[in-house]
Amino acid sequence: MQIDEQELKNKLTEEEYKVLREKGTEAPFTGEYVNEKTSGMYKCKVCGNPLFSSDKKFDSGTGWPSYDDAIEGAVKFVTDESHGMIRTEVRCSKCDSHLGHVFDDGPKETTGKRYCINSVCLNLEPDGK
Ligand SMILES: [Zn+2]
Repeated sequence: MQIDEQELKNKLTEEEYKVLREKGTEAPFTGEYVNEKTSGMYKCKVCGNPLFSSDKKFDSGTGWPSYDDAIEGAVKFVTDESHGMIRTEVRCSKCDSHLGHVFDDGPKETTGKRYCINSVCLNLEPDGK
């Protein structure tokens, strides 16, 4: 999908735009969803694409909302070699917005993955709405 960057800039806060479109990172323990326990669907703030189910959320202690799995096909992966590290960037598959990174140190009893996602990239839609 085609994104009008100027329109998006007007719609989002400065921090949201910085993280979503310029691969920024919110400060740990500041995001509104770090300790969120409400069940529902976390959607992309830019395009509304359903990304993560609250069932997959776990407390990683890192200060960012963490999930052990994404909705199938909702995200795409890009190798990120910035900051002297090789990481896997997670983007929304629909609008290409940056969401966070995925690591291999997640819960062993499930997928072993840890999706480390910025709260500002998400909108939680609680169940039953
Ligand atoms: Zn999106």
